[in-house]
Amino acid sequence: MSEEPRTSAPLVEVRGLHKAFDEHEVLRGVDLTARVGTATALIGPSGSGKTTVLRSLNVLETPDAGTVRIADAEVDFGASVPKVQRRREVAALRARSGMVFQSHHLFPHKTVLGNLLEGPVQVQGHDPDEATAEARSLLEQVGLRGVEDSYPAQLSGGQQQRVGIARALALHPQVLLLDEPTSSLDPELVGEVLAVVRDLAAQGWTLVIVTHEIRFAREVADQVLFLDGGVIAEQGGAEVLTDPTHERTRQFLSRVL
Ligand code: ADP
Repeated sequence: MSEEPRTSAPLVEVRGLHKAFDEHEVLRGVDLTARVGTATALIGPSGSGKTTVLRSLNVLETPDAGTVRIADAEVDFGASVPKVQRRREVAALRARSGMVFQSHHLFPHKTVLGNLLEGPVQVQGHDPDEATAEARSLLEQVGLRGVEDSYPAQLSGGQQQRVGIARALALHPQVLLLDEPTSSLDPELVGEVLAVVRDLAAQGWTLVIVTHEIRFAREVADQVLFLDGGVIAEQGGAEVLTDPTHERTRQFLSRVL
């Protein structure tokens, strides 16, 4: 039997994350725990550090200090370790998450299938036939049948973003990281992408999502973290979005809802 999400094992654990860009301290001690099978929404004002937290989880940004653990892979960014060891630790950590970007970052000169096979076959060395079968099934899962041979430019923004999600899943991540997956889309295309994310949450994927879609967050999030000025100012269940305790959260929600 599956465990209750709120009491399932911690999969992602972040402690004391600090990051500065030049003199600008963007993260000032962020702690985060995401449990197996839960959806965590990171919300907060623009510039509060949400994307930097997410990118730190798969080391697209290198934190100045703090630890990030995903499953059995952990990096202590404050520790001084030999370069070779650090490279190995970072590779292990990266392998445990998949990233979905604001705009899909697909290879424009590769077909949809080519985009989905790049990671599993070229990078991870999996069997091409098996990877192809899996890619087709992932495309079906995101509601895209029959687009295998299309090029990204032939698809709508919503379809491209769904390919981006399938591509992240093709790497067999333990947690899917989504950075405002609908922010670059025309309003009429937002729904189809949110529907896919909703499905993934329902299937028990562990998700960490940076989002401005507060209503959506209210619907799917097991946990909500409100980031303000590089710290977690409030956290809790979806009630953070309906009945916030802190004045800053209340002000933010009244502006965006
Ligand atoms: P959010 O996702 O909450 O909007 P970000 O994490 O994107 O916030 O950014 C937090 C702050 O860090 C912003 O002031 C942004 O300008 C700055 N920042 C983010 N990435 C970089 C970078 N690569 N170089 C310099 N400043 C950056």
